[in-house]
Amino acid sequence: MYNVTLIPGDGIGPEITEAVKAVIDAAGVKICWDEQEVGQKALEKYGDPLPKHVIESIRANKVALKGPVTTQIGKGFKSINVTLRQTFDLYANIRPVKSLPGVNSIFNNVDIVIFRENTEDLYAGIENAIDDDRVEAIKVITRKASRRIAQKAFEYAKAHGRKKVTAIHKANIMKKADGLFLEEARKVAEKNKDIKYEELIVDNACMQLVQHPEKFDVIVTENLYGDIISDLCAGLVGGLGVVPGINEGQEFTIFEAVHGSAPDIAGKNIANPLALILSAVEMLKHLGEDTAAHAIRNGVFDLLKRGKNLTPDLGGSATTHEMTKELCSLIA
Ligand code: ATP
Repeated sequence: MYNVTLIPGDGIGPEITEAVKAVIDAAGVKICWDEQEVGQKALEKYGDPLPKHVIESIRANKVALKGPVTTQIGKGFKSINVTLRQTFDLYANIRPVKSLPGVNSIFNNVDIVIFRENTEDLYAGIENAIDDDRVEAIKVITRKASRRIAQKAFEYAKAHGRKKVTAIHKANIMKKADGLFLEEARKVAEKNKDIKYEELIVDNACMQLVQHPEKFDVIVTENLYGDIISDLCAGLVGGLGVVPGINEGQEFTIFEAVHGSAPDIAGKNIANPLALILSAVEMLKHLGEDTAAHAIRNGVFDLLKRGKNLTPDLGGSATTHEMTKELCSLIA
């Protein structure tokens, strides 16, 4: 029995976390879910969008599975996602983007793992209103954070038989900030000469990704570029509904899908739960439950190959419940 903090979040979050619980049950893993509310609901109930008891729960369990939490645009409380990443020093946001069988997409040969720095850059949240007509947002890049995300990417590449790491930047314009990021990435590359290392300017990287995604292997990049490139890459393999994510630090790990709370489809029972289910597969591997992780992954592949009972984003007409039920029966 494992203790895991579960944050259903809002928008489609509660629907897809229910699906994950059912699928993990079907795979026979016993988890004691410590369910916690954050965001707007927590603000109304506890006067804090990220209450102390939620932080304590993650601190005690060390592992959390998190649904999406809405961040209002241009107003409201600071992003819960960003605050959690900073609080637990989850410096690596790892996003494996892989073509899936049966998913309708232009490409069928994408296999990229994105390492996005997760704690600084423009997400440091330092914005100053100089006067009524001028606002500055400060981009923070440190040697330490740049070094450890590069190390993480190379360690992963080595451990998983990957051949190449591409550092994505805009150092032609941000010569000092992105220059520092590259300086550290190059030092790490120098110590790992068995892995090929290359650098690409972010705009060029975007074009190459949509033309030749098969040329990419492991990507390492800063926080904002990583956020944007992740969604772009999700579009190469069938959309946001199928890309999982891991927020990893030294001591704590939070698993969450790449997608947001999708308010446009919330409460309609049509959200695709696979991105969070695949995030839970990564969580099971982290917990040492490899057999169950494989069973769920194979079940997802079977489901997609059969092409029945899929949600609308995958070209089907099934509800979240119907798709989850089908997946559970394939796993069982
Ligand atoms: P955030 O900034 O919080 O990451 P976002 O602005 O990127 O959020 P999302 O909430 O991820 O936006 O949604 C983007 C689009 O993708 C929406 O049209 C949404 O309906 C769709 N989408 C996202 N997740 C899913 C899902 N699991 N199933 C089906 N469609 C989804």
